[in-house]
Amino acid sequence: PENGGCGSTDTGVKVIVRMRPLSNNEEGETVVQKTSGDSLSMLGHQFTFDHVDIFEVVGAPLVENCLAGFNSSIFAYGQTGSGKTYTIWGPANTLLEDNSSSNEQGLTPRVFARLFSRINEIYNEQITDLLSPSQRNLHLREDTKTGVYVENLTEESICSMKDVTQLLKKSVDGLRCFKTSRMNLVDLAGSERQKSTGAAGERLKEAGNINRSLSQLGNLINILAEVSQTGKQRHIPYRDSKLTFLLQESLGGNAKLAMICAISPARSCKNETFSTLRFAQRAK
Ligand code: ADP
Ligand code: MG
Repeated sequence: PENGGCGSTDTGVKVIVRMRPLSNNEEGETVVQKTSGDSLSMLGHQFTFDHVDIFEVVGAPLVENCLAGFNSSIFAYGQTGSGKTYTIWGPANTLLEDNSSSNEQGLTPRVFARLFSRINEIYNEQITDLLSPSQRNLHLREDTKTGVYVENLTEESICSMKDVTQLLKKSVDGLRCFKTSRMNLVDLAGSERQKSTGAAGERLKEAGNINRSLSQLGNLINILAEVSQTGKQRHIPYRDSKLTFLLQESLGGNAKLAMICAISPARSCKNETFSTLRFAQRAK
């Protein structure tokens, strides 16, 4: 029930905060409050809050963006146990069940269901004139004399093999409006400060790298948000980490980016929750 968005849509980066409900073994006391219908308060700080359906706000636009030929990425950020995997995949028992109601499902199954239903809509039900590709969605008509025909379809008179070849070349141009786009749904590593987990040796080294790569991602997102707000050119440090280098085509330029920051309302998570909310605010 706590699908909250503390978010912004006016920059290239969409930031959503999702607060999971308290679990059974957590104390009844929460440190994050919804103050009014539209704000969230923690340790005296206010965060704007919109009640949103995460799929409608980030999943569905991602599908449309992908169909339009643009790359996109959705990241789930937050400490271990805050609900990242739940957000990306959904509750464990709904993933493989076809009959679970869609708003119980996570982003991945819903994004794919929407993607394929949109593709069917576009390619199976839409008639495009290959000799005039801007003519989309032509209508089928039925005539008692001529039978079923496509209305407004381009007709060309041909009288030689050369004419045929030329028309075929032209129609191949039409087919070239194939689009390629990339879609990344990323369940990031836990963002918790590693000093509090008592990691040592190789684990500590791994932890340091995780922290570094998450903070480089955050840094990059700040820069992208700034560039899209101010329109100013800036060097974008994609090569600073393997994660940002791998995803660079889906981060800058025309790519759409959403960061879902998962938090727990529990007192035991207070410090990490506050740092996640600050991360979310910086990314706006
Ligand atoms: P993370 O991937 O960030 O480590 P999980 O997604 O595994 O965290 O979530 C931790 C626990 O909280 C799981 O038991 C999950 O089912 C539960 N949970 C997370 N988000 C929600 C939510 N929005 N509603 C109900 N339960 C949730
Ligand atoms: Mg997880």
